[in-house]
Amino acid sequence: MDYIKRFTTREGIRMSVAVTTDTVETARVRHDLWPVATAALGRAMTGALLLAGDFKNHENVSLRIKGDGPLGVVHVDAFSDNTVRGYVDEPHVDVPLKYAGKLDVGAAVGNHGEVQVTRFTQLAQDYTSTSPIQSGEIAEDLAYYLYTSEQVPSTISLGVLVDPDYHTIVAGGFIVQAMPDATDEALALVEKNINELGPVTEYLKAHPNGEGLVEKVLEGMTINEVYNEPVEFKCRCSRDRFAGVLMTLREDDKSAILEDEQTELVCHYCNEKYHFSREELKDMFTPASVVQ
Ligand SMILES: [Zn+2]
Repeated sequence: MDYIKRFTTREGIRMSVAVTTDTVETARVRHDLWPVATAALGRAMTGALLLAGDFKNHENVSLRIKGDGPLGVVHVDAFSDNTVRGYVDEPHVDVPLKYAGKLDVGAAVGNHGEVQVTRFTQLAQDYTSTSPIQSGEIAEDLAYYLYTSEQVPSTISLGVLVDPDYHTIVAGGFIVQAMPDATDEALALVEKNINELGPVTEYLKAHPNGEGLVEKVLEGMTINEVYNEPVEFKCRCSRDRFAGVLMTLREDDKSAILEDEQTELVCHYCNEKYHFSREELKDMFTPASVVQ
């Protein structure tokens, strides 16, 4: 059961943690991702969920990582209701392992390019900002983004462990941020705790539900859980929405698709396929007869 939880401490440190194993596995199956694509998209989805919602603002976050590696664009939308969707341009990418058993996400994403983050709500105007890719490993790139674009020093750790048979074994991560009132002692303590923790993927492998993770990272502090909600892969597309798009086509484009027996539309974000028969389209494109 995937979740996101948020915590504050009396010492001025705040932390969000997410376990996203099923969410990443759903993306993997939907897009037929190969392992390094699963790791890249899984890290990006987890990172965007951690960035979305914030502690008080109900924000959605779109994350677009455009590196010079073979994956192409990694795009994720995380919504404040903790649903997330996303894709990579090239799901069937294979790059040599970094070392035994370690997928080289940085090589697949590429270490030159741009991280673009858009924060948006129903009410406020969109806010988009970019920063250069640092390593293509995603956690480091997001931390750099937060520091340079939003002036929030953060430690981000993201991990996706993929089985040789391609399925997602564990996925998740956390973000730790210092509030302006954080003491130097608290900062030093949390840094020491994170160093002792080691890679989050290893931790999740041993603790698939993330049990004890927060207590380890925030050890020595007074912890207060302020948020705990389920997370899932979910797209906002629908058959009606695609029908609406078809209705906005120009007349000659409408005639062109009517030449096919069947029209297939594929959602970029979730790979759902929608089929419209010629008869159905003809009906849709014919203006309703005027009733006298
Ligand atoms: Zn979709």
